[in-house]
Amino acid sequence: MKRLDGKIALITGAARGIGLEFAKAYAAEGATVAIADIDIERAQGAAADIGGTAIAIEMDVSRQDSIDAALNHVVEQFGGIDVLVNNAALFTAGPIVEITRAEYDRIFSINVSGALFTMQAAARHMIARGKGGKIVNMASQAGRRGEPLVAVYCASKAAIISLTQSAGLNLIQHGINVNAIAPGVVDGEHWDGVDALFAKYEGKPAGQKKKEVGKAVPFGRMGHASDLTGMAIFLASSEADYIVGQTFGVDGGNWLA
Ligand code: NAD
Repeated sequence: MKRLDGKIALITGAARGIGLEFAKAYAAEGATVAIADIDIERAQGAAADIGGTAIAIEMDVSRQDSIDAALNHVVEQFGGIDVLVNNAALFTAGPIVEITRAEYDRIFSINVSGALFTMQAAARHMIARGKGGKIVNMASQAGRRGEPLVAVYCASKAAIISLTQSAGLNLIQHGINVNAIAPGVVDGEHWDGVDALFAKYEGKPAGQKKKEVGKAVPFGRMGHASDLTGMAIFLASSEADYIVGQTFGVDGGNWLA
């Protein structure tokens, strides 16, 4: 018996990076996985690689019609949804005096509103079905302390930690567990963009920031997406039934250092 046998899971932003690793891990644990991403071509490639019952769904978490369509698609095709992973998010950086409203709105519409209203849509389906469910939000250790050039992203992840607590408390009456994972620094394509922003604002040569953050992790290296899958499976499984509104750091000691 695998830990997610028979479960239907939707993972946002799963065409690459951490979300893709979670999709593979969930499928290996017996789940049917919907890879929901704004990049449908890549999501389709990922679903084909995973094979079995995995499907790709085009989804833009910043649009309510797209959230509703994605959730309805999964429920119509598979009869319900058991697990939602709110993983899609964007990073941004820059000094406070240069933040624009447009950039703030763009980041919050995906990282915060996207996560909240996807959680709401999933919870409505889970409540209607009456079998509970699991919601795993991707926070970040960046949500636990500010950083001089990362105000908007840090604030968006602080919002995820807070929403996880409130939604956890509100939804447990329906047997829906809401919890979050807070990674530290995880290697992947995401870091190309991060590195370019720090090159711009701190004058660092390309690749420098990534080397520095990797060295600063007490474990001795940046995280890999595979370092997070154990926690993602655990929080989606019945082993996490009694866990409500928590955010778990999986960061090689980054936050404590
Ligand atoms: P990534 O940038 O590699 O992947 C993000 C995915 O989200 C992409 O496939 C992208 O197409 C998709 N996406 C972007 N906008 C979308 C939208 N509007 N609707 C749907 N999908 C959209 O990111 P990652 O590094 O794998 O990070 C995954 C999660 O983990 C994010 O929530 C991120 O904030 C968090 N996190 C990452 C790190 C890290 O160092 N990589 C650290 C802490 C937290």
